[in-house]
This record gives sequence, structure tokens and C-alpha cells, in this order.
Amino acid sequence: MQRGEPITVSLVGSTGSIGTQAIDVITAEEGRYRVVALAAARSVERLVEQARALRPERVAIAGPSRAAELAEALPAGTAVLAGDGALEAVSVDAQVVVNGVVGFAGLPVTLAALRAGRRLALANKESLIAGGPVVQAARATPGAEIVPVDSEHCAVHQCLRGIIGEKGMEALPELRASRLRRVVLTASGGPFRGRQRQELAEVTIADALAHPTWSMGPKITVDSSTLMNKGLEVIEAHELFGVGYDDIDVVVHPQSVVHSMVETTDGATIAQLSLPDMRLPISYALAYPDRSRTAFGAIDWSGLSRLDFEQPDREAFPCLDIAYRAGREGGTAPACLNGANEVAVDAFLGGRIRWVDIPEIVAAALDDYHVTIPTTVADVLDADRSGRDLAAAAVARRVTAGR
Ligand code: MG
Repeated sequence: MQRGEPITVSLVGSTGSIGTQAIDVITAEEGRYRVVALAAARSVERLVEQARALRPERVAIAGPSRAAELAEALPAGTAVLAGDGALEAVSVDAQVVVNGVVGFAGLPVTLAALRAGRRLALANKESLIAGGPVVQAARATPGAEIVPVDSEHCAVHQCLRGIIGEKGMEALPELRASRLRRVVLTASGGPFRGRQRQELAEVTIADALAHPTWSMGPKITVDSSTLMNKGLEVIEAHELFGVGYDDIDVVVHPQSVVHSMVETTDGATIAQLSLPDMRLPISYALAYPDRSRTAFGAIDWSGLSRLDFEQPDREAFPCLDIAYRAGREGGTAPACLNGANEVAVDAFLGGRIRWVDIPEIVAAALDDYHVTIPTTVADVLDADRSGRDLAAAAVARRVTAGR
């Protein structure tokens, strides 16, 4: 990359929480980045507004029904892509592809960016978790690399660079066993931290959406309240860094200032700290291996007096161990887990099941699922579909029983 040339960026999922914060970062670092493509599922008005400000070459929308309306409103000369494959198509346009799509729908974007040898700034953890071996194969493409945007994994990435030194992240597989003892992921504990299992039976949708430290989309916020988000992040850490499940621990840290840690073989713990602000991990992934010149979430030590840590309550929040179980089963089990969880969270947000039913439904889906080893995207899609169908059946049983 030529010095002084702007880094080209494709923002996929540009109208969501990650996408809009990525635009904040890009706008703050004037002249450093050039957005060449924007893509979203269906928010036409926001896409148009973003395109007028950023002037990308291409704009993609997954839902084809409003493509004409989009084309009409965009600045002249902007190419419009719509429908199946539109998001994937713009995922190869730039040096850095930000995948901020919500849920399993992000898989084609992850695969397209990696297969094109791009750097993937990955906020969509579901694609890596569900895609497992298929994503790993795409990751072997020359030039392809994943820089995690998920705050915990971004923290681990930063900490690992501290023990690997000048050799770079490519040296991780060779140095992991001799230098790294374990990865410790921190969890805020969500809005229900400290509550007993029986106190959680009647929590409402609004309660689950009231996250104490992070402002995020509804799906991930519910996942944070059940600790499924942390469970998915355990699988994500395994996939990203090749660390075994016995060497990934979770500790609850309510202030969300320590974003995660690595413990080295000599007993040292290296942590990354900052105030909760997703723009820092986004800027890290955009600027990597350099650093953003704009600070996001820098700590004012006069206003921070304590950092607390506690063990997660695995009985009140069974999703954490359900995810470990799926991770250890490997193969297509994480895809089934993820699909089942998306259905269960949807059913909860739709008022059809209780919050405490979410883990029961996901566990029931895994119990009834036969794990295989995925070698193709079709295998991953099958596993996701099975997870969804099994979870939907479990939801239906519960809804009928509740009448
Ligand atoms: Mg996270």
C-alpha cells in the first residue's frame, strides 16, 4: 500500500450499529480511508443519506423490492446492486471489508471477502462460529486475514501481538504452545447479573434490552443477557486463535473496561483496557497493523476507581455451557447452536416464549441434532437450517403447552 493513499473500505451492514460507528471512525480520520461500497439489508433512507455523504462507487441492498427507489435517490453515477448476491458482490471491492451484518446472514460476506484475499474487519461473529472449517479454508487464501471487531477478540488480538512480537500474527500457530497458557474473555454479565435462576422467570423484553454498559442491536443485546453472546465468543476465540476450549475461560467484569486478557506460560496476564466504545475495535481493524490517530474510549483514571471480577453463574445462565458443549462437539454443532439461538431469540423478542425458555430451546435443538463435519457452504447451511427447524419445533411445543 502506497503511503498517503487512502485505504479503501467496503462497509457491509452500513446502516446498523457497527456500520454507523464505522462511519464515525472513517469521518474522524479525514483522508485516511475511502469508502468504495456501502451495503445493507433494507434501510433505503439511511443508505441514501450515507451514500450522499461518503460518495461510494457502489451501493448494495439485499432486499430487491426497493432497488429502483434506491437508484433514484442516489447521487448520479453510483452503481446499484440488489437482491441475492448483492452484499457478497461488494465484499470484494476494497482492501478492508467491514462485515457488520447481523446474524448468520453474514456468512456469504465473510467468505467472499476472504476468498478475494481481503482483510476482513469482522463484527459478524456468527459467520465464523457457524462456518467453522469452511471459513478456515477461505482464510488460507493469500492476502486474506481476519481482524476481529468484537471487543473481546480485538483485545485478545492486541494482547497476543504483545507476546508474539515483531513476527506478526502469522507466527501465532508456531508460538502458541510455548508462550500462551490461556485466553480469558471478560463478560459484562448483562442486565441480569447477580439474579438467581428463579428470579429470572418473568423478565420482560424491555428488561433484556437494557444493557448496562454497551449500546448494541437487539439480537446481540438479548444474547448478552443470556450469556449466549459470551458462549458464542468462546467458540469465536477458538476459531480465531486456535486455542483449545480447556484454555478459554470467562470471567464476569461488570465495568466492561478490561476487554479481555491472555495469560502467558510464565504466569503474566496481559490485558487491554478502554472505556466501552465500539469505535475503538472498529478503528483498530481498519487501521491494522497501524493505529488510529483518533482516540476512542481512552480512560480518565480520575473517574475510574475500581475494576471488579467474579465467576459467571452457570446455573442461572446455562447458555454459556451449552455453547461450550457445542464448541467441543465441533463440526456442524456450532452452526446448529447458532441457528437455534437465532430462532429462540426471535421467539422471545416476538413475545412467544419467556426469557428462561431460550436455553431450553437451544439445548433441545442440540440434543436432537446429529453432528457432521462440514466441508462445503451447503453443509453449513444445512446445519443452520436443522438448528432453526429443531428450535422452531421446540418453540411450537412450548407455545402450545403454555395455552
Ligand atoms: Mg463482544
